[in-house]
Amino acid sequence: MEETGMQIIKRENVHFAFDPAQTPRAWGHSGETFLFQCQDCYCGQLNEDGMDFSRMDMSRNNPATGPLYIEEAAPGDVLRVEILDIDIASEGAMCARDGAGIYQIEGCHCRRFPVEQGEIVFDKGVRLPVRPMIGVIGTAPAQGKVSATRPGEHGGNLDIRELNRGTTLYLPVNVPGALLSMGDLHALQGDGETVICALEMEGQVVVRVDVLKGRRDIPTPFLVTETHYITTAADPSLDVCSVEAARKMHRFLQDHSELDDAQAGLLLSLAGDLRISQVVNPAKGCMMTFPRGLAGEHFER
Ligand code: CA
Ligand code: CA
Repeated sequence: MEETGMQIIKRENVHFAFDPAQTPRAWGHSGETFLFQCQDCYCGQLNEDGMDFSRMDMSRNNPATGPLYIEEAAPGDVLRVEILDIDIASEGAMCARDGAGIYQIEGCHCRRFPVEQGEIVFDKGVRLPVRPMIGVIGTAPAQGKVSATRPGEHGGNLDIRELNRGTTLYLPVNVPGALLSMGDLHALQGDGETVICALEMEGQVVVRVDVLKGRRDIPTPFLVTETHYITTAADPSLDVCSVEAARKMHRFLQDHSELDDAQAGLLLSLAGDLRISQVVNPAKGCMMTFPRGLAGEHFER
């Protein structure tokens, strides 16, 4: 990966909560490109196959690298984060254990799987193409610390598998400087993240960050992929966050096309996909995806 000419936020600069009172670890300007070095979600503690999970220090779970202070960012702005590249290590970790995730699994099974030529080498001859993504990415909330294990309106532990190269994420700016952080890279994750982890990787992410002024029309945290618009919501109840994610897209379509409320609802029922992002974090996550090009043509990226 090309590393010259951009500021590097080093892997030592990790924290475990999004916090408006946090001291920035890096400073930069709107329009600049940054490289975030990320530890894996276990801070590298799961470094051998079959390791005993009980030996792990759980206070060092889900580190985020940062925060980055963007000089132009003021409360009420939107931070546009373009994911330009994600580079992952050659081996990752995961763990299936009793009492975590949604399955009944006996005991604790910590595993490491190699990544070879863009494929995860799983058991029993199964190989899976990688789709590197960011699990945790967010800005500081307006007040109070939010654990990096939790998703919310500030972003955080979103675990949305579309947070990969080519996607643009829009986050709220709640405090001066925005205080952007990220971590928890995954080589691959399915919707739901049902066993409570993905293939957890260390690696690095290159992003371009821009401050947008006066854009209260953007329903943050909001994603634009190469093909889709994605609205998101998080809540302990899937009933609540599914409705909220869908209503955000309904509002977005009315704000950014000629569609009225009924037309937007009809079109979403035909072409919008309401999906679960994850069911294992302290708040669950849902998203509504809608194909770009069908509507939303007035949205200015
Ligand atoms: Ca995660
Ligand atoms: Ca993870």
